[in-house]
Amino acid sequence: MMGPSHALSGAAVWLAGSWALDHFAGYAQSPLAIAVGTTVCAGGALLPDLDLSGKVTRNQGGATVARTFGVFSLFVAEVVEKVSLGVYTATKLSKDPRRNNGHRTFTHTLPFAALVGWGTTALCAGSGKWAVVAVVFFMAGLALRGLFDEWAERAGWLIVTLASGVIAWFTAANLPGDRGYPMLGFAVGVGCVVHLLGDMITKNGVPILWPIPMGRRMWRMIGVPNGIAIKVGGRGEVLVLRTLFTLIAILSVFGMFAPHVLQRLDLELWADGG
Ligand SMILES: [Zn+2]
Repeated sequence: MMGPSHALSGAAVWLAGSWALDHFAGYAQSPLAIAVGTTVCAGGALLPDLDLSGKVTRNQGGATVARTFGVFSLFVAEVVEKVSLGVYTATKLSKDPRRNNGHRTFTHTLPFAALVGWGTTALCAGSGKWAVVAVVFFMAGLALRGLFDEWAERAGWLIVTLASGVIAWFTAANLPGDRGYPMLGFAVGVGCVVHLLGDMITKNGVPILWPIPMGRRMWRMIGVPNGIAIKVGGRGEVLVLRTLFTLIAILSVFGMFAPHVLQRLDLELWADGG
């Protein structure tokens, strides 16, 4: 899937999950907490593609997310790609092909999702509010770049960075400072897993079983059968999936903040039907 679909799916999953927690478990969050979680989960749903590097020295190429903060994130992507390739080469078995690029390897595994999730929670538990603000800044950048790819491309990385700064500043000004925010790491981890699922319904698949060896292969790419795989950037993705994610997100927001609107809608549907 492409950037906007990944970001949208992350936002939709977090909003739907927050609604379900509220509705079934009576666990209500403040609007700001939900907004922060949604931003972080949408950003997390783009994080694995930070392994698609470009040419740092010429400031070219790279995945959309790699260009979020200009040449800085391009450099990070270069490092992430090389480290991923290192993990691949170090753990590959005899049947795994030789590779010279780390895209869709280590950052596309469940241990990676758990690692960044745990790392984020540890950081926020240790450093509190300012770590939260830093995480929000970084993730808001990824989310903006992902959600509004065409706008971000035109506006350039400086505007995206400034916009993330405004979101982080607003969060800093309004977030209470006396909590550990363990949910934040969870949001990052969930975002990464949502990304993996998104990649699994395309033709390429992801090494979801790593590090479980199967038939002398550690890095088997696993996805849905080619016949039902979603074409990247095709109509199925752009029209069907994005509309579905947007609807889920909107319904969840209404469900949490204006349930009476949904109830009215429900009653009217019943009245029409009966
Ligand atoms: Zn990916």
